[in-house]
Amino acid sequence: MATLFISDLHLEPSRPEIGEQFLAFLAGPARDSDALYILGDLFEAWIGDDDPNPYYAQMKTAIRELADTGVPVYFMHGNRDFMIGEAFAADCGLTLLDDPHPIELHGEKVLLSHGDVMCTDDVEYQQVRAMTRNPDWKAMMMAKSIEERIAFALQSREKSMARHATMDEEIADVNQAAVEQTIREHGVDILLHGHTHRPAVHPFHVDERAVHRIVLGDWYDQGSMVEWDEDGPRLEVLAR
Ligand code: MN
Repeated sequence: MATLFISDLHLEPSRPEIGEQFLAFLAGPARDSDALYILGDLFEAWIGDDDPNPYYAQMKTAIRELADTGVPVYFMHGNRDFMIGEAFAADCGLTLLDDPHPIELHGEKVLLSHGDVMCTDDVEYQQVRAMTRNPDWKAMMMAKSIEERIAFALQSREKSMARHATMDEEIADVNQAAVEQTIREHGVDILLHGHTHRPAVHPFHVDERAVHRIVLGDWYDQGSMVEWDEDGPRLEVLAR
């Protein structure tokens, strides 16, 4: 049996093929796993756990059905779905994780992260991130009506798309010094994250210690997961 890791599905009602693949994944390979870790950006946007859109109810029910079979499900916030809260976790029967979150798997020390916090070259984004993760900001946002929050989410997404259209490729990636500092601080062998949509396994050294950074891919055109059993981690494409 293996532990499975996914991220960056960016589920939304206008992309039904991603939702269908996710539902098949939950009812298929995830059922035979030791645990499922979702490392952020499961959803393209999340305006609050009180969103009445039936699409999200369908996804929550499917996650709940997996959890009810006894597979532990963990979720870490991404930069799109950072408003997910305890009500969502309770509905899905999953556990919310802080970012970063250390685990030990088959004798290896692993650090899980969404990844955006290591994109330190994008100073403007880090400022927005700090602001929106503040509990006071979240409370201010949740005090708005659902319609106001939907409008705000659309506006934020347009701004983000406009910024990324003109941004240097390097700036949107993780910063290597931030990666090395994170690995050093947590004393891990492997850093596993998503966010950048650049699936790869990067071997390198930190203080002469051999380490790896594994990056999950997005689910826009195909699925991506890391399957980790006693033979180690494998980064895999889920064809569609
Ligand atoms: Mn992200």
